[in-house]
Amino acid sequence: MIRVEHLSKKFGDLEVLKDVSVHIKKGEVISVIGPSGTGKSTFLRCLNLLETPTGGKILIDGEPLLDKRTDVPRIRRKMGMVFQSFNLYAHLTVLENLTLGPVILLKKKQAEADRKAVELLKMVGLAEKAYNFPDELSGGQQQRIAIARCLAMEPEILLFDEPTSALDPTMVSEVLAVIRRLAREGMTMMIVTHEMEFARNTSTRIFYMDEGVIYEEGTPQQVFDHPRRDKTRAFIQRIRSLQYAINSPLYDLYRLQGEMVLFCEKHVISSKVCNRLQIMAEEVLQMQTDFTDILLELSYSEKDDSLIMQCAAAGAPLNPLEQEDNEMRVTMLQALCESMEYSNSDGKNRLLLRVRR
Ligand code: ADP
Ligand code: MG
Repeated sequence: MIRVEHLSKKFGDLEVLKDVSVHIKKGEVISVIGPSGTGKSTFLRCLNLLETPTGGKILIDGEPLLDKRTDVPRIRRKMGMVFQSFNLYAHLTVLENLTLGPVILLKKKQAEADRKAVELLKMVGLAEKAYNFPDELSGGQQQRIAIARCLAMEPEILLFDEPTSALDPTMVSEVLAVIRRLAREGMTMMIVTHEMEFARNTSTRIFYMDEGVIYEEGTPQQVFDHPRRDKTRAFIQRIRSLQYAINSPLYDLYRLQGEMVLFCEKHVISSKVCNRLQIMAEEVLQMQTDFTDILLELSYSEKDDSLIMQCAAAGAPLNPLEQEDNEMRVTMLQALCESMEYSNSDGKNRLLLRVRR
């Protein structure tokens, strides 16, 4: 359906895409992952010519998109794109947002466009919002409307650029559920996302982008469980950790604990263990004396199902586990941890705690 050959894109001297070649078949669901700034958005935008590639070829159903003789608007209509910011027309109702394109560009009769729009609104769970305006809806609802609006144009492929990144954490799942449903129905999709569990469970293939190329690709199992190349491995490791920086004794403990809850949910860590982690974070932080530069890190390894909390704090070498004031806290931590270690390296006082599961 889509064949990309040696695609390149420069912004001035900045070479963002160096040499991207891929082949996407009908019905595939591809998640594009990778660090930010590696050209994921640029790649999607080149596919439907929101950016003009500097070199290479893009063939959609065999038709060369970059050929001067090609009817670009017609081919472009085969592709729908959903952005991080929903981009709905604020002055139009939900229903009008969905019917404007079909009536004007696809020359559909208003009644037919309305009927189809209502059907799509049902599909994304928002039929009762047909006559509301976008700003009367939550972010999650607006994004579902944006997806329905794309579908109203009857695209053959949907491109998503971080569709859930602008949403409150509580609204991410309703949008992912809609995308998952489209995947089940056989829609061809390419999704740039940071939602790794979603990418793993929904995609047929994963593209890891780095260095201006598709640095590694494979099935979710290959890329997530057995990454072949160093950078992919490092990236996959990193996403399994939560880092929280503190630089004042007035740190926001509730916010940290809130992030820990989300982290635990994402990795299906039980609420019992999650509670333990929250108590540990509180105790570990209360044992600190220097708050100018603290990094608390939680890492989860799926391989041995282990959870490690690390606290690195600046300041003169001092083992908080040996301070008399901390005796009660240490006893408490011992009950929650399998092991606790103190070390001093790179000018940091480090505590490493392995959580009891
Ligand atoms: P990603 O989506 O992976 O985070 P992007 O494709 O947005 O990456 O950007 C890749 C690089 O290209 C970044 O360094 C970004 O600053 C640069 N870039 C993106 N769009 C433009 C533009 N229109 N003009 C100049 N530089 C751009
Ligand atoms: Mg991007």
